[in-house]
Amino acid sequence: MNIVRRTLHWGPLLALFIIFTISAMSIICDMMWWPVSAPGGTINLIVYVMWLYLTLYNFFCAMGIGPGHVPYGWKPDDPKDIKYLQFCKVCQGYKSPRSHHCRKCNRCVMKMDHHCPWINNCCGHMNHARFTYFLFFAPLGCIHSLCILIPSLYHAMNRPYYFYYGDGTEPVINLDVWSFLIGIFSVGLAVGVIVAVGGLGFLQLKSILKNETGIESWIIEKAYYIDRTVEEGEFVYPYYLGMWRNLRQVFTWSGYPVSDGFTWDVKEGCNQYTLTIEQMRQKEDKKDRSIEYTIIEDYSGRWCPITKGCRVICCPPFTDEPRIKLNIGDRLLVTRWKKHWLYGDKILDKQQKDLGVSRLRGWFPRRCAVEFVNNGCSYPDLTKLKQRAEKKKLS
Ligand SMILES: [Zn+2]
Ligand SMILES: [Zn+2]
Repeated sequence: MNIVRRTLHWGPLLALFIIFTISAMSIICDMMWWPVSAPGGTINLIVYVMWLYLTLYNFFCAMGIGPGHVPYGWKPDDPKDIKYLQFCKVCQGYKSPRSHHCRKCNRCVMKMDHHCPWINNCCGHMNHARFTYFLFFAPLGCIHSLCILIPSLYHAMNRPYYFYYGDGTEPVINLDVWSFLIGIFSVGLAVGVIVAVGGLGFLQLKSILKNETGIESWIIEKAYYIDRTVEEGEFVYPYYLGMWRNLRQVFTWSGYPVSDGFTWDVKEGCNQYTLTIEQMRQKEDKKDRSIEYTIIEDYSGRWCPITKGCRVICCPPFTDEPRIKLNIGDRLLVTRWKKHWLYGDKILDKQQKDLGVSRLRGWFPRRCAVEFVNNGCSYPDLTKLKQRAEKKKLS
């Protein structure tokens, strides 16, 4: 049931539509271009169907198995270790090492890499191998498709010529105008899959060889910019075990990854909490660097706020992180700055806290806010601003 529910989403449906279009067109052309009755025709078709099967099998496995979730209310066996872990307010439990909370799945995900809309699930610990196999077989199948589609379409186009001048050995490809157009469309789709999915597969393999998820790469990058005392020493990434062992953590004969999702093999000199301690430290560092802002212009939370000017629309932050609805007088702690957008955590009022809101954060246009200086708003009169905005709304 879970898999049916997961499939009924634009991502998997579009992915299946693309797979179906390319493969149906390839098989139809293949039957005419290299019929099963001709020598080698059967083998060609079997190999093609095998790519298709492996692509779909791994696609559904990656979607159905999922990344593995940290149980609600989880805490480490030894209560002393709690201080090294972050608490997830949504799941009401501690985040085990390498896990992160996914806003889309609304769960803490084991060794989270990213949330993939195409499988409508997270790519993480349990489905990492399946997901990577999918990224490998899909482009391979598409390369085979191109080998069938391009000569088939070429022969279909030249059919009248072969009819008069051919020696009778050329394959006869009968396609009407619509089928021919779908054929061209399929070639375009196949090239797109090879470039996009193949590229993603390459990046995924690179990150497995480093035993480093996308999120962990950011943490490592940030770790280089933090000033450390001599006693603290340099930060050492604990999960790099050498390329071969890294690969073996994910790809195993049993099909199940090595770790249980809570404890991980680590480098000598590191422990289970080396990375989580670094993460907490970076969070503190971020808090120190944050600056308070006051909102002087309402913002609806729209992704494309037309009333905020061209520059705000043309230079959005290229991320699917949320946008946050704001009203005049709201205050935020800003942690990230772009030329026309800011990212911050809203300072919640008592009413919101009472309602159980734990955190509100997101991007908003820079022009809606001013810096909060010397414990006061640098903007002269907020009440007047509010009244003016209200009047505008009423008129
Ligand atoms: Zn969580
Ligand atoms: Zn997710």
